[in-house]
Amino acid sequence: MENLGKIERQMAQFAANNYHPLPVNIVLGQGAWVWTSSERNDENKYLDCLASYGALNQGYNHPRLTSAALKQLATGVTVTSRAFLNEPMADLCELISEITTKEKVLLMNTGAEAVESAVKIVRKWGKHVKKVDPEKANIITCANNFHGRTITIVSFSSEEQYRDGFGPFTPGFKIIEYGNLDALKAAIDENTVGFLVEPAQGEAGIIFPPAGFLAEAQKVCADNDVLLMADCIQSGFGRTGRMFACDWDGVIPDLYIMGKAIGGGFPLSAVACDDDIMSVLNPGDHGSTFGGNPFCSAVAIEAIKVVLEEGLPQHADKMGQYLMAELKKINSPHVKEIRGRGLWIGVELHKSAGGARRFCEALAQEHVLCKETHHHIIRVAPPLVITKEDVDWALERFRKVLLMP
Ligand code: PLP
Repeated sequence: MENLGKIERQMAQFAANNYHPLPVNIVLGQGAWVWTSSERNDENKYLDCLASYGALNQGYNHPRLTSAALKQLATGVTVTSRAFLNEPMADLCELISEITTKEKVLLMNTGAEAVESAVKIVRKWGKHVKKVDPEKANIITCANNFHGRTITIVSFSSEEQYRDGFGPFTPGFKIIEYGNLDALKAAIDENTVGFLVEPAQGEAGIIFPPAGFLAEAQKVCADNDVLLMADCIQSGFGRTGRMFACDWDGVIPDLYIMGKAIGGGFPLSAVACDDDIMSVLNPGDHGSTFGGNPFCSAVAIEAIKVVLEEGLPQHADKMGQYLMAELKKINSPHVKEIRGRGLWIGVELHKSAGGARRFCEALAQEHVLCKETHHHIIRVAPPLVITKEDVDWALERFRKVLLMP
């Protein structure tokens, strides 16, 4: 593996120790495959079953995305700042408005920034439209959520490690059990301005709420003048076999929060909502130097079109059903449950299996790249361009690893 020892030494000496990567140095990528050396041979070839936590739904080096990136680079204009106009940003806002049916779009860079932005918009809407005292406004969130890593976002995390040592925290959030409608009803009070929810929880281990929960939650929110804020950052753009995971419940939330795959491999995130909500933002209220930059916007336009025009949600649905059915046939004593939708599958292991990490390491030995989540769950989330042949190739390796002692 190219320069692995050197990279590991540099990482140990110079990089913050905030991740625990597998010893795989990715050098080249194409579709669902990566190589650990600039030489493309079978020895160096791995199937990526993580897709950068859902940021690479279109796969590596998609010709349309690469060409959009190169074309924009050739103009010499990658960032203009929002002090001036740029056409890719304008086109992208129009396209996002079209696919979400929302009137207005705010562009940011990372998922956490989009969540932060949505929180700011909803709080300001609470003050100016719902007329809630800003000192008393609250937003309801769910246990085991993952919305990012900023101070405000970890303020409403139920994961102790994400908070430990980072206080003081931002007030104004409540946490309820995920998927529990009664808990939502009970938590809403006259100062509640928003309900922030993942339509399916990824970091928590690929957990879908009970069928109909989102649709019911939407009604409860509407009845109480509370905005439904759907964090579609990881579950969006085809990952679950639908364009957005809310589509499983036929729900159009008040605010779509998007990131990861919308950027086609580059950092771009967005919030989309109608103008009665977005209009609380005026010049100077909020912003970002790189938000809406022409380079990422140009790629994002192609990234969205590729998802739609190549039918990636439908392909994810079909491949996901096949992959899950075949994984379930592996009669492994280690496996407690296999669940998911589309190409977003969690393989939950019994505690006695000794943790998911050793299985991910064994899969890496077999040239399949996966990542454990929450100690006992193997997350399987390949690029949505994965072929049936690739899935069959991976299944052989899964069989071998899941049946190991
Ligand atoms: N929201 C969800 C549902 C996520 O899965 C993630 C990242 O994994 C985030 C927000 C944060 O996105 P980012 O890492 O781009 O800040």
